Amino acid sequence: MKILLVGAGLSGAVIGRKLAEAGHECRIIDARDHIGGNCYTRRDPETDVMMHVYGPHIFHTDDEEVWTYVNGFTEFMPFQNRVKSTTQGAVYSLPVNLLTINQFFGKTMRPDEARDFIAEQADLTIEDPQNFEEQAMRFVGRDLYEAFFKGYTEKQWGCSPTALPASILKRLPVRFNYDDNYFFHRFQGMPKDGYTPMIQAILDHPGITVELNTTYSPDMAADVDHVFWSGPLDGYFGYELGRLGYRTLDFERFTHQGDYQGCAVMNYGDRDVPYTRITEHKHFSPWESHEGSVCYREYSRECGPDDIPYYPIRLVEEKALLEDYIAKAEATPGVTFVGRLGTYRYLDMDVTIREALDTADVFLSGVTSGTAI
Ligand code: UDP
Repeated sequence: MKILLVGAGLSGAVIGRKLAEAGHECRIIDARDHIGGNCYTRRDPETDVMMHVYGPHIFHTDDEEVWTYVNGFTEFMPFQNRVKSTTQGAVYSLPVNLLTINQFFGKTMRPDEARDFIAEQADLTIEDPQNFEEQAMRFVGRDLYEAFFKGYTEKQWGCSPTALPASILKRLPVRFNYDDNYFFHRFQGMPKDGYTPMIQAILDHPGITVELNTTYSPDMAADVDHVFWSGPLDGYFGYELGRLGYRTLDFERFTHQGDYQGCAVMNYGDRDVPYTRITEHKHFSPWESHEGSVCYREYSRECGPDDIPYYPIRLVEEKALLEDYIAKAEATPGVTFVGRLGTYRYLDMDVTIREALDTADVFLSGVTSGTAI
């Protein structure tokens, strides 16, 4: 079969690879001048530091098959994300852990004491948190919420945390020990030479052709048996029902001689600091040594029509619109919508790969049984 995959990011590459291995002819197009979507990495020409061009990407998963899959395409180095937060005039460890709690409240509590102490801070009258703020008030209480989450979240999402789903905060654990690993997954690492060679290796199959700087046009679909669309879901339909809301990011690059901040990610919890975080990219490759350093100040804002979409907002109004677009997508034969933009979800890389592998399997079994397309 002839397959067109729109987007050469993780979804397009992983699905394309599986279908190519099954003997199908895969044409992958991407409007940008590089593969990898927002996982794209490249060396900074000035300092040679490996840059996460579209912001930090740390690979973490509990899915052994996905971990084996990515390790089959590139070498991973051990990497654990240890984030810090500057807020109210001090630096703390994230995610909120026993060190954060003891330093913040000026105490020397052991785990059980801290647990009881935080339970006193927490608003236990909130039984079933309905939004981000309620989730925070229920689990960490007002003081920690205001220091670490409220300002950051207002900057990141451009709205009140009461308008955001509780699920966003559920991404972050609260720990009553000194474990400051940002993620709790079994497998964590960073590709030694960045994500671009990994995705290049996935795409490296005789059944796959990749065309960059190539924008989709409907006549391309006429030539193929099936389309996998990893561009924006609403974009496929020409935004005819309106635009799904996204946040975009602006990165303000600056260089420094030596070590600028001593860690890869420094978050800023205060509302009056306009950026959400500073990333210092050489700390994402601690096995390398560079005298020069490149940092990004990261600013979040509403995504305009010409900006790169990063985070799907999924507020109440988007949800209704999303349902309408999903209904249209389901009524569109011959096209499968995949990935973060194609399904309008906040997906981590491991989940994106898992879904891409499963989507390819479902498609291939449909081809075998004659029910595909
Ligand atoms: N968050 C916060 N303070 C922080 C870090 C995160 O309030 O210092 C909130 C914020 O709303 C963010 C969410 O937690 O969108 C998820 O954080 P995560 O670090 O997973 O975000 P990502 O790295 O994917 O942008």
